[in-house]
Amino acid sequence: MQNADLWQKCIDFHGHSCGGLAIGFRAALYARKLLDVDFSEDEQIVCITENDACGVDAISVILGCSAGKGNLLFRIRGKQAFSFYNRQNGQSFRLILKAQPDSKKDKADKLEYMLNAPDEELFAVTEVTQPLPPEAQIYGSKPCDECGEMTADCFLRNKNGKMLCADCYDKA
Ligand SMILES: [Zn+2]
Ligand SMILES: [Zn+2]
Repeated sequence: MQNADLWQKCIDFHGHSCGGLAIGFRAALYARKLLDVDFSEDEQIVCITENDACGVDAISVILGCSAGKGNLLFRIRGKQAFSFYNRQNGQSFRLILKAQPDSKKDKADKLEYMLNAPDEELFAVTEVTQPLPPEAQIYGSKPCDECGEMTADCFLRNKNGKMLCADCYDKA
């Protein structure tokens, strides 16, 4: 198979080899081809994933999209679909996994198919349904007026003139 070392890198990161990881692996490679970029050092490549399954790890490894960097966003819809955005040139598209052929019955068969089938056979390319998300914000923090714990500004809410963290807000 192509990119065998990259697949191994994904397995090492994810902890095991599985069909779900292979979906993300192929989606990330296809996206990389369509985007004509390599690893996303900063935030120029953004991914919105419509699931939080195994495959997301491969997208982090191959494209550098991660929750911590703010360029991997979850919009859970229970679909094997991933939208990609290139901030540098405004390009965007969405990959959605097609139904697999019925002939691929057992796990090994399915994995083999997922790793080797042509891109176009695995994924349909559609328009994105969401606008390009704004760049990750750096928020300041203030202590919650109730528990005193430092909390990002955007998570403090006003209740009777007190600025409360979400937990204290719910209790008040
Ligand atoms: Zn897995
Ligand atoms: Zn609090």
